[in-house]
Amino acid sequence: MKEDYYIILGISKSASASEIKKAYRKKAIEFHPDKNPGDTKAEENFKKAAEAYEVLSDPDKKAKYDRFGHQAFEGGGGFGGFGGGGMNMDDIFSQFGDIFGGGGFGGGFGGGRRQARVKGSNLRIRVKLTLEEIANGVEKKIKVKRKKVAQGTTYKTCTTCNGSGQVTRIQNTILGRMQTSAPCNVCHGAGQSIDKKPTNADANGMIATEETVSIKIPAGVVEGMQLKVSGKGNEAPGNGISGDLLVHIEEKSHPTLQREGDNLHHDLYISFSDAALGTSKVIDTVNGKVRIKIEPGVQSGKILRLRNKGIPSINSYGTGDLLVHINVWTPKELNKEQKEFFKKMSGNNNFEPKPEKEDKSFFEKVKDMFS
Ligand SMILES: [Zn+2]
Repeated sequence: MKEDYYIILGISKSASASEIKKAYRKKAIEFHPDKNPGDTKAEENFKKAAEAYEVLSDPDKKAKYDRFGHQAFEGGGGFGGFGGGGMNMDDIFSQFGDIFGGGGFGGGFGGGRRQARVKGSNLRIRVKLTLEEIANGVEKKIKVKRKKVAQGTTYKTCTTCNGSGQVTRIQNTILGRMQTSAPCNVCHGAGQSIDKKPTNADANGMIATEETVSIKIPAGVVEGMQLKVSGKGNEAPGNGISGDLLVHIEEKSHPTLQREGDNLHHDLYISFSDAALGTSKVIDTVNGKVRIKIEPGVQSGKILRLRNKGIPSINSYGTGDLLVHINVWTPKELNKEQKEFFKKMSGNNNFEPKPEKEDKSFFEKVKDMFS
């Protein structure tokens, strides 16, 4: 449903003509595109306020609106209304420019000429990292195709807009003298134009180059994270500033380690006899291999926590752990002699389960892991 014009302007139905004008002026200043560059929401509010003012400032339209609401202007019927489409920015500037008084839009905000600065476009690349690289941080040298200002290209200040990138027009209308501004159509808002350029450069004096960029990747990055290398995107022509290089992080899977946040997990399978007699095993960490000791009588499901052998937190809240999950492998096949042995042990007191307090349940272990 279309919003009520009085609500848009924040006034009551009994507002006087000067109150309506004052309310619109307030909204127009608040949502003015010069004050909210690139903010589409503000632009929409700016347009809504203009549309509301267009109707409520006209006694005839206001009377119709008060009686019939938005229906008064629907179906393209005779009022020169908006047919639901709203107003475009040019309409607003040309019709209501005087609401800001004096200097029009250019003068009203930020005072006069601003120097145009064009920004080059951003470049995007993907970088695949191993867990080891993520754990320790890494510097990657990556070839990037960048647009740069060609050697020999020179620019001069645009004479049409004197470098501001904007041209202002002064019009005399029934509402009074009005000033509007629009991007310069000679330099397209850049404020500068080509003076000289080599033949291999494009229309903006740019050339495609391949450059090796060194990217410092901090320890602890996460799949999907985006790092920004400022100024390593495409250059901008003239006095513009370079775009950025956006680095999208991808994580290669590790053959034996699984990452979960800053912690790592490793599933270690040991034999029946190793579990009974105790053993030591060599496992991978992100900083090389380590040997871990398995005590005799270890139970399947036990988790050994190797402190600080995980991934450093990207926010520098310490380092995660490496959790080694012990899985005792029950033999699936036994020969005659082995069968005899286990049959003999069946019912033997040493082979009877006797869980102790420290042999926590699966759920208690899971709880511990996240504490
Ligand atoms: Zn220009």
